[in-house]
Amino acid sequence: MSSSNGEREFRINIAIDGPAGAGKSTVARKVASKLSYVYVDTGAMYRAATWDMLRQGIEAEDESAVLKRLENIDIELVPGEEGQRVRLSGEDVTNEIRSLAVSRTVSRYAQIEGLRAKLSGAQRQMALRKGVVMDGRDIGTTVLPDAEVKIFMTATAEERARRRFRELPESGEAITLEQLEREIEQRDELDRNREVSPLVCADDATVLDTTSMTIDEVAEAIVLRAERELSLLK
Ligand code: C5P
Repeated sequence: MSSSNGEREFRINIAIDGPAGAGKSTVARKVASKLSYVYVDTGAMYRAATWDMLRQGIEAEDESAVLKRLENIDIELVPGEEGQRVRLSGEDVTNEIRSLAVSRTVSRYAQIEGLRAKLSGAQRQMALRKGVVMDGRDIGTTVLPDAEVKIFMTATAEERARRRFRELPESGEAITLEQLEREIEQRDELDRNREVSPLVCADDATVLDTTSMTIDEVAEAIVLRAERELSLLK
């Protein structure tokens, strides 16, 4: 690839995986902005599919109905001035997909092999030209096993619940911090134990325990890793 001044411009892909609430999306967004890369929030895609299924009254147990419905919907991640917007067949569902109803059920839909195949295919397409920071559960293991930088972000369940609690929409859905911690642990349990692409740390990923790190420190550590990789390509 060449830049406008004729110099060769190298880009890499960065995969960030880890359990719920580890701060992946905030960090991934910052890293993408520092490197002028594209941020892809794969969790938002699973959430958008889940939101649609809930609205249609299609249960996760009814796999054939889920897969049939999937053929008729289209999920788009659109960069916007105030962050990425999520569109479901043209409709903006950015706020809706963060509801507790979606958080509580998304991991059951995410176990369906055909749904994962469709979403991971779309995610791979987005990373073909490199220059992508993608976060999720199976990016370093399944979606982009060749990503040049792979990070597995963790933090204690207590700290992760605190982070998610602070992010809850101001419209305020009633949930206590303790309930949220239990729900996060249940979701991780399902994500870790599913048969297809479970949440595991890739053998070649760098593990970052972010419990006592700030978002900026984590982002900086990843940017440094990325810059080291980029300097090897020159
Ligand atoms: O990242 P976020 O917490 O929004 O993801 C919501 C859910 O989507 C996860 O708990 C998981 O069940 C599913 N997911 C997945 N694979 C990904 C990203 C998300 O299974 N790559």
